[in-house]
Amino acid sequence: VVVGAGPAGSIAALVLARGGASVALVDKANFPRDKACGDLIGPRGVRLLDDLGVALPGALRVDDMAVIGPTGRRVRLPCDAGLTYPGYAYALPRAQLDATLRQAAVAAGAEPITARATDPLGGDGGALGGFALSTGAEVAADVVIGADGATSRVAEAAGLIDPARVLWGFALRWYGADPVDVPQILLWDTSPGRGFPGYGWLFPGVEGRSNVGLGVGVLADRTAGAEAGRCSDAFFAHLHRVGLTGSDRPPASGRLGGWLKMGMVGTRPAEGRVLLVGDAAGLVNPLQGEGISEAMGSARAAAEAVLAGPDQAAARYRSFLRRTYAPYQATTASLHRAMLGRPRAVSAVGRVLTAPGVGRALAGAWSIYWNDLLDGAAPGSARRLAAVAAAAGRVATSAGPTRRWFDEALAAAS
Ligand SMILES: Cc1cc2nc3c(=O)[nH]c(=O)nc-3n(C[C@H](O)[C@H](O)[C@H](O)COP(=O)(O)OP(=O)(O)OC[C@H]3O[C@@H](n4cnc5c(N)ncnc54)[C@H](O)[C@@H]3O)c2cc1C
Repeated sequence: VVVGAGPAGSIAALVLARGGASVALVDKANFPRDKACGDLIGPRGVRLLDDLGVALPGALRVDDMAVIGPTGRRVRLPCDAGLTYPGYAYALPRAQLDATLRQAAVAAGAEPITARATDPLGGDGGALGGFALSTGAEVAADVVIGADGATSRVAEAAGLIDPARVLWGFALRWYGADPVDVPQILLWDTSPGRGFPGYGWLFPGVEGRSNVGLGVGVLADRTAGAEAGRCSDAFFAHLHRVGLTGSDRPPASGRLGGWLKMGMVGTRPAEGRVLLVGDAAGLVNPLQGEGISEAMGSARAAAEAVLAGPDQAAARYRSFLRRTYAPYQATTASLHRAMLGRPRAVSAVGRVLTAPGVGRALAGAWSIYWNDLLDGAAPGSARRLAAVAAAAGRVATSAGPTRRWFDEALAAAS
């Protein structure tokens, strides 16, 4: 059973069904359903969908990204093709993306069930063996894949969360009418020299609509998520001041909020016959909030691990995560934790990175590292510089508690 039919759940169900497994895809929502998101699918996600032969009708191609620093200075981050990913991303509203992926899973043979997974069913030796549903039905299963998002019921029911360690974020999204040709990221100061602990964005959307939002990191304190709402009027005034929007007020339509669980830390991703994928596993980039590519990449790997044999699936999947996502996530989760609560440092980093000369010199490497595109990046000076930054980050964060958590949670025999 796969709980959750977002990008993670639908890709897991699709790969399982194509591999011959009998799979139920359970989601509490009726599709198409909206989801708070910037609606950008990064280059690795584009490549994965291509590999799986899933087309996204109506998706808009976007490539470079502009970062606007606290002083209003801009840097253009190139979106260069790598050896294992293309030089572009897609923009597509989540209502459309998620419905398309779910339909692809159903077409591959997954059985869709519209219901909320409520209470866990006991399996062999007291392990999680399925879920009772809000409809009164029960789904018993050999393997449970938790793809039910940041506030995962599966992770909670399987006892895989250490709440004090989780890095939470909260973000608000609107749909506006200010067209932009490249995605814009705004690092801004709430008062002079004090950086906002997150960032704002204005992304291109389909049919001339823009996607605009503001996200804040709150460490383990979810009550602080309200900061995104409290700062939104000031953020829209800033957007207007830097010339990106016609009005200094939030758009009237499409306001929706959502949680981000970042940097993997605090959620053990697989034990016994329970595997967590996507946001349920905290697989969101702690530097910029991307999670769709990671959701689909982890889901494919989890499904392949299950198809290779359920008994060893958790160990196989942990080993994949150790190799593929943990090196970046462990470093950047530590950096994220170190920066939050230091608004002067946040502001200073934003100013330095967008300072004349500095931004342009670093743009290629910045784009690679920030977007977790080092593995598979094309050879050249940008890649070399990004590799130096990654190595420096690893060394700087090697002794911290976050790194120790990764070593324990992803150990081969945990
Ligand atoms: C405002 C915002 C902006 C973002 N922008 C971007 C972006 O531009 N690009 C990007 O890559 N990432 C972005 N992210 C992150 C991205 O949205 C997530 O990483 C992504 O949605 C993860 O997919 P998922 O399938 O793991 O979870 P989800 O998309 O959250 O899907 C989980 C599914 O599980 C279902 N569910 C939950 N609980 C239950 C239950 N008990 N029973 C049954 N079903 C259940 C839900 O209905 C939902 O359909 C953003 C996040 C936010 C909040």
